[in-house]
Amino acid sequence: MSSIFTKIINGELPAYKVAEDDDFLAFLDINPNAKGHTLCIPKKEIDKIFDMEEEHYMELMKFSRKVALALEKAVPCKRVGMSVVGLEVPHVHVHLIPLQEMDDIRFTKKEKLTPEAFEQTAKQIAENL
Ligand code: AMP
Repeated sequence: MSSIFTKIINGELPAYKVAEDDDFLAFLDINPNAKGHTLCIPKKEIDKIFDMEEEHYMELMKFSRKVALALEKAVPCKRVGMSVVGLEVPHVHVHLIPLQEMDDIRFTKKEKLTPEAFEQTAKQIAENL
C-alpha cells in the first residue's frame, strides 16, 4: 500500500535520513517522542510487520540493530527502546527511541526540534554507523 513513506523512499518528500541501503531506510521521526527518535523501514511496501517474509523481517531487525547501536552512541540515553505500532502510517516501521524514562516510549510526550537540530542529530547518528 502506498503511503507517505513511499514518497520519502522515492525522494518525493524530504526526510532527515540516517542510514540507507538497497532494501531499507532509516530517518528521523518528524514528531519525535525524544531527540533521536528514528524510524527504520523496508523499501518494499508492506503494511504489517508480521506479514513480512521471515528473511526480510530478520534483515529489517539486523538493519534496525545497526542503527540503534549508532543512535545509542550519538544521543545520550539510558538505552534505546524499540516499538512497532503502525496505526498512523500503513507501511512497516520500527521506532527506535532513546529512553531516559518510561514516558519516552508512550507516544504521549513529544519533543519539539528545530530543523537544524534534526539535521545535526541525523548527522551524528550517521557518523556512528
Ligand atoms: P505509527 O504508524 O502509529 O507507528 O506512527 C507513525 C509515525 O510516523 C509517527 O511517529 C509520525 O510522527 C511519523 N511520521 C509521519 N509522517 C512522517 C514523515 N513525513 N517523516 C517522518 N516521520 C513521520
